[in-house]
Amino acid sequence: MARNLATVQDIIAAKRDGLELSDNDMRRIVLDYAADKIPDYQMAALLMAAYIRGLSLNETIALTRAMVDSGSTVDLSNISGVKVDKHSSGGVGDKTTLVLVPMLAACGLRVPKMSGRGLGFTGGTLDKLESIPGLTTSLPIHQFVRQVEEIGAAIAGQTADLVPADKKIYALRDVTATVDSIPLIAASIMSKKIACSTDIILIDVKVGTGAFMQNVAQAKELSHFLLSIGRAFGRRVTVAITDMNQPLGRAVGNALEVAEAVETLKGHGPGDVRELCVQLCSVILDMIGSYGTLEQSLRTAQAVLDDGSALDRFRKIISAQGGDPEIIDNPDRLPRARLQQSVPSSKSGYVVRIDCAAIGRAAGVLGAGRERKEDNIDPAVGVIVRKKLGDWVEEGEALAELYSNDAARLPAAMQLVSNAYVIATERCSEDVRLIHEIVR
Ligand code: URA
Repeated sequence: MARNLATVQDIIAAKRDGLELSDNDMRRIVLDYAADKIPDYQMAALLMAAYIRGLSLNETIALTRAMVDSGSTVDLSNISGVKVDKHSSGGVGDKTTLVLVPMLAACGLRVPKMSGRGLGFTGGTLDKLESIPGLTTSLPIHQFVRQVEEIGAAIAGQTADLVPADKKIYALRDVTATVDSIPLIAASIMSKKIACSTDIILIDVKVGTGAFMQNVAQAKELSHFLLSIGRAFGRRVTVAITDMNQPLGRAVGNALEVAEAVETLKGHGPGDVRELCVQLCSVILDMIGSYGTLEQSLRTAQAVLDDGSALDRFRKIISAQGGDPEIIDNPDRLPRARLQQSVPSSKSGYVVRIDCAAIGRAAGVLGAGRERKEDNIDPAVGVIVRKKLGDWVEEGEALAELYSNDAARLPAAMQLVSNAYVIATERCSEDVRLIHEIVR
């Protein structure tokens, strides 16, 4: 039975010993930490105890509630129509938001999207968007709401007072090896979704070598937490468990990914990016229920890519946020790296495994990501993956191309990408599945 404990040390000791914390204790420790009344070392100890012992669903819901209550919520009641939100648990080359948000707006939905920055090997939507010259993601809340009303979508950074406890706790997790904990990830994601009052939430849980969830069983457990938290707060949540055993599409790096997203919005682009965005869009349309059958929702999703209406929305989003919309017709206006280097395969064979996180780290080494929150990134640099799972490669043929502005960074990135590939004479018998499961 959960009970209220006296001191922070008592709470840490209880979690260390595998006891369940009470709602009050969880709330107190989170709110006091957000208010700087508890030092990092005590919170770090509690996070590690939670990482090792796990958190019950009740504790995770209490954690989520306390994180939401640590700041203000975003009032979207002035926005008319159905408001939808999507969130990715983090991946490599995951430019889904850049394509899906304009698609949903083109379907007549309202998409007030608050996104994050990349950390570690994963990329972040804000960094990608900001590679568009002039574009800002720091929108005052009234401008954010007005933009959603006028053009159907806005993509901005979280306001400073939205879930401040998550910001602090996430930064601490990042440096205390406590990121990949299912309850901690679930509370972190859901606190931000609950603080924004959207009607429909789709969470894209990535699974594989480039994701926090390494296998489908873990992804399902995370989905269970996400859905249960959604239910506890009376929110409609669906989870898509999608593959991250290789980068999505070919581009990994900010401006490179924007260019690939634009290609997809033009009705071209890599097949997996298009397919995933069409599927996720149709799942959301199906949740709303007024777009006909799932088959009809799929056709609607395809149509907004093929008839240019999603591309038109993206152009409007860029313009409304001060960016240069000419990048759509002329991608050369995006930042471009000075140096390009191929990573040759050391032998001939089939690509049977890619350490996708290592590709993300290589892009980071080139300057596309940050080691610490305060690091600057280079929007132009990154990796273009030439060979994907199941492809045949000849010895000496390029596995990937590196784009850099600093020759000194190339050898380490080259090593990471080269080591990320496993080449074998036999093709892998497992299917490369893009979507593992939709959990409702
Ligand atoms: N994304 C989040 O928002 N939080 C996590 O903890 C992991 C991924």
